[in-house]
Amino acid sequence: MDVNCPRHGSLKLRGNTFTGVVVSDKMNRSVVVERKYLKKVPKYERYERSKSKITAHNPDCVAAKAGDEVVISECRKISKTKSFVVTGIKKRGEAK
Ligand SMILES: [Zn+2]
Repeated sequence: MDVNCPRHGSLKLRGNTFTGVVVSDKMNRSVVVERKYLKKVPKYERYERSKSKITAHNPDCVAAKAGDEVVISECRKISKTKSFVVTGIKKRGEAK
């Protein structure tokens, strides 16, 4: 069992919740999630498309795969790069 799971373990969620698409599932119990958002440019009073990558913990019970649209929630820092956990899958991506 995974202790770093909000449902089966003792991990508490707090802070931000985002949705994004898994771009890499090559790590053990970790995924890279890409999030697209609009960023305001004050000078032109318009928005530009922007994106960022977030490393998130991927518990065994969720097991998100590359291409999946997932929901990630902020939690305490789990490792050097991880402070988010995948809490659910919104849409399964196409199997490769
Ligand atoms: Zn679990």
